Amino acid sequence: MDRRSMFNTSAAVAVGAVAGCALPGTAAVGPKTPFTVPATYVPIVGSDLMFPVRRIYCIGRNYAAHAREMGSDPTREPPFFFQKPTDAIQNVAPGTVADHPYPTLTKNYHYEVELVAALHKGGRNISMANALDHVYAYAIGLDMTRRDLQRALGDEKKPWEIGKSFDRSAPIGPLHLVSQTGHFKQGGIWLKVNGQIKQNANLNQMIWSVAEQISKLSEAFELMPGDIIYSGTPENVGPVVRGDVIDCHIDGLPNLGIKIV
Ligand code: MN
Repeated sequence: MDRRSMFNTSAAVAVGAVAGCALPGTAAVGPKTPFTVPATYVPIVGSDLMFPVRRIYCIGRNYAAHAREMGSDPTREPPFFFQKPTDAIQNVAPGTVADHPYPTLTKNYHYEVELVAALHKGGRNISMANALDHVYAYAIGLDMTRRDLQRALGDEKKPWEIGKSFDRSAPIGPLHLVSQTGHFKQGGIWLKVNGQIKQNANLNQMIWSVAEQISKLSEAFELMPGDIIYSGTPENVGPVVRGDVIDCHIDGLPNLGIKIV
């Protein structure tokens, strides 16, 4: 398998592995199934290991100026979270511009560049002091959004699932181990469309830090190894159309590039 196909192909594995049958890092021996379904992995830089994705959590309105542009008051709101399905992941290799299909049902398709934290340890009610010990690696990601559907469903007080949690709505670069990069608490985060800067902020402007996000999430859910967290986007989200090229950046990580097709 060449590098390109490794990034674009999910290994097919049988679901429902029998507990206790698998050695660490080996394929589980599962029950016989009538068909296989793809599992989701994200490549780890500097390693031949792949990170298995269990759940994708996303925090909403985590930069004050973005919260304001979405019509809320960032000073009064506790953090809130939503999920994307794991197969929303679109792996994008550094140095490439991956084709990203314009999704159905929208006329206002938005980018949101975000820092992504990947966990190798889980737990409930994780304290702020211990939270970052749970982070294994970081990546740059895009929380692609059908903004018109998100807004319309919100206005109707319906779940905004279809606006956020659709196929390939989570492009992501490869993971970088904390042991090699340290934690990302500050640094530039920006996004360009067709070479023009659109989003431009600093990670230290997050309202809720990655540690706080982990702690808060673990009050609502038991976090597990394999969970990843999209940590929110800065202000100046906006639309793209077919043909547009998105180039996004976080200091210390290789850029992530997609072309809307
Ligand atoms: Mn987002």
